[in-house]
Amino acid sequence: MKIDVLTLFPEMFSGVFGSSILKKAAEKELVSYHVENFRDFSDNKHKAVDDYPYGGGAGMVLKPQPIFDAVAHLQEKNDSNPRIILLCPQGEPYNQQKAEELSQEDHLIFICGHYEGYDERIREHIVTDEISIGDYVLTGGELGAMVIIDSIVRLIPGVLGNEASPILDSFSSGLLEHPHYTRPADFRGMKVPDVLLSGNHSKIDEWRQQESLKRTKNRRPDLLDKHPLSEKQKKWLNE
Ligand code: SAM
Repeated sequence: MKIDVLTLFPEMFSGVFGSSILKKAAEKELVSYHVENFRDFSDNKHKAVDDYPYGGGAGMVLKPQPIFDAVAHLQEKNDSNPRIILLCPQGEPYNQQKAEELSQEDHLIFICGHYEGYDERIREHIVTDEISIGDYVLTGGELGAMVIIDSIVRLIPGVLGNEASPILDSFSSGLLEHPHYTRPADFRGMKVPDVLLSGNHSKIDEWRQQESLKRTKNRRPDLLDKHPLSEKQKKWLNE
């Protein structure tokens, strides 16, 4: 997968792309990152990328020209038809299903906004997806792009050591994940549930499924409305 990021603050990405799983994924050549400052595409002699809003009002608006030209450059360079993702608090709320969908793509371009927002023609004419990472307003789209890229890259086959682990993660199955414990079995009087020490794998699996269901009911009952439950799961819930 190729991931391009258009931003006014390229330096923000070096720590995230140069650490942990995202770094390893690039080292394994499963993904490549390219961060471009769209100010470099401005045809303005002062390299301006923003201007006052028509109709007046507070804040500056990102001009269409630098972003249109930067996207065209990336499309030509890669000879591809990428998904073009605009970070935007008004976009579709991001979730694991969207991460799974985007992880199937070969080429993604992220556009990080700043200031008051974008000229509307950017949304209308070049963007394929507008995504919000939550109902709050950030200073810029960079942190949102990092969140989305991290969640996508870990789903690319071969990126995580254990292929099964993203499948069991919270939300992948539609439920929250079960609790985890590690050694010691007794930490200052706080004990690990006996079933996990039993060595009985079918009992452990059943306990995990039940805990996952219980946790989802207690913390995120809204998820249960969207998740078709088996007869066994309905019985556990009633109990
Ligand atoms: N005036 C805009 C509005 O009310 O919708 C908010 C602009 S915000 C200060 C600047 C940029 O930060 C946005 O263009 C977007 O790229 C990014 N941003 C802010 N909050 C975001 C969120 N919740 N999800 C994704 N991107 C966000």
